Amino acid sequence: MKDCIFCRIVAGEIPATILAETEIAVAIADLNAQAPTHALVIPRRHAANLSAFVADAEPSETGGMLELASRIGVAATGNGYRVVVNEGPDGGQTVHHLHLHVLAGRPLAWPPG
Ligand code: 5GP
Ligand code: ZN
Repeated sequence: MKDCIFCRIVAGEIPATILAETEIAVAIADLNAQAPTHALVIPRRHAANLSAFVADAEPSETGGMLELASRIGVAATGNGYRVVVNEGPDGGQTVHHLHLHVLAGRPLAWPPG
């Protein structure tokens, strides 16, 4: 999608720190990290949010997103990790191309704000 910042990162048109790549997704470092490890797992295929993504996704595509998030979380320093997806105004979504946040490297408070 022409005006989508994450489509442009996936296409290599905007620089980002690439942490891992698969056929399905690209994992980058978040520009405004909230933990020592803060990755974003971005599907190559544009979908505005999680519900739009799953409406069209093959099970292998959905599974591939979780697999990559888990791989990054397991490899991170610390004792566990968190995967978060924000959707819509109440979820606090600001970039309208699905991304899984992977946070690790410090104890994370619960519940979130
Ligand atoms: P959301 O609020 O939509 O769940 O999260 C969007 C995330 O994308 C934020 O954590 C923000 O820091 C990150 N972000 C926004 N623009 C860019 C960018 O151009 N590059 C990178 N690496 N991260 C970005
Ligand atoms: Zn996009």
